[in-house]
Amino acid sequence: MKTGFFSYEKYFWHYTGHAGLWLPSGGLIQPDEHAESPESKRRIVNLMAVTGLLDELVPVAPSFATEADLLRFHTQAYLSRIKSMSDGRGGDGSVTTSFGPGSYEIALLSTGGVMAAFDAVLDDRVTNAYALVRPPGHHAESNLGKGFCLFSNAALSILRARVTHGIERVAVVDWDVHHDNGTQQAFYNDPNVLSISIHQDRCFPLDSGGIEENGQGRGLGANINVPLPPGSGRAAYLTVMDRVVSKALRKFQPELIVVPCGFDAGSADPLGRMMLSSTTYRAVTKTVLELASELCEDRLVFCHEGGYSPALVPFCAHAVIEELAQSSTCITDPYASFFDVQGGARLVSASRSGY
Ligand code: ZN
Repeated sequence: MKTGFFSYEKYFWHYTGHAGLWLPSGGLIQPDEHAESPESKRRIVNLMAVTGLLDELVPVAPSFATEADLLRFHTQAYLSRIKSMSDGRGGDGSVTTSFGPGSYEIALLSTGGVMAAFDAVLDDRVTNAYALVRPPGHHAESNLGKGFCLFSNAALSILRARVTHGIERVAVVDWDVHHDNGTQQAFYNDPNVLSISIHQDRCFPLDSGGIEENGQGRGLGANINVPLPPGSGRAAYLTVMDRVVSKALRKFQPELIVVPCGFDAGSADPLGRMMLSSTTYRAVTKTVLELASELCEDRLVFCHEGGYSPALVPFCAHAVIEELAQSSTCITDPYASFFDVQGGARLVSASRSGY
C-alpha cells in the first residue's frame, strides 16, 4: 500500500483574522485566535514527523489550480471578487469566510493540492492519498464563500478528473461534522456523483443538510444526507457506515471514492457536539478502504476539511493516515482511553434504527 501525502507551508499562512471562535471580534467580542487557525493542521504534520509516519508516505507536489479549473463550478464574478479582496487587504467571501492578503493564491494551491492527490491516485503512482490542504472547501458554493471555504476543492477535483482522466462515477463520503452544502450544490442534478454527507443536524449551514435533500432531476437519489443529532458517537457513525454508506456505494459502483475528511466530529472540538475519538476515525477509514478495494481498485482520495481542536485533531488524523498506509507505527492515542468510554459512544444508534 503506497499512500501519497502532502501539506505545504503556505497553507498555514492563510490568515483568518481574530475572532471569538468564528465571529469577528468587535463590540462585545474580545479578540481571540480564530477557530480556523493553522495550529491543528500544523500539529498533524508535527506528530507524523515525531512518530515516523511521515517517512512512510509518498510525497505529492501541489500545484496551482487554474482559473479554468475553478470556472467548472464557480462564477467569474465570484472569482474576481475574491481576487480583488485578496490583492488588497483581504476580506470575507460572504458568510464566515474571512481571509487576509494573498489568500486567493493560497486557495488556488489548496484546490490544486487536492487535484494533485487525484492525479497521483488516478495515474497509479500511489494507492491512495491524503491532501492536508487549507483553506478547506466543502462549504464553498458557486458564487459564495461559506464556512471558512473559498473554493470547492473536492467538487472541482472531480470535475477536472472527468476531463483529464475520463472518470465518470465518483462517490463522495463527507464525514466533516458540518453539511457539505457546496459539494451537494455542485452535483445536485448529476447522477454520476453520489454525494453522501454525514453531519450534525443543522450545525452549519443552519438551513441545509436535511434528509429530504436527495438530488433532483437526473440526480434524484444521488445525494444522501445523514443529519445526526448532537451527541452521536461511535455506534451511530459505524451504523451509518454499515447501513447507509456501504449499501449506497455497492449499489452505485464508483470508479473512485473521495472523502472530504473533517475531524470536527471529535469529542474535544469547539465547533461540533459529537463524540468521536481517533478509534472511530480509524474504524470508518477501514470501512472506506474495504469499499475502495471491493469496488474501485483501491482508488481513494482524502482531502482535509474541518477540525479545530489542536490537541485532538493530530491523533485522529494520525489514525486515519496510519490506516490508509497500513502503517505499523501504531501509536497509542493518549486521549482515546478518555473519549472511548463516554456515553455517546453507545446511545444514539439504537434510537436511530431508521438508518
Ligand atoms: Zn466542519
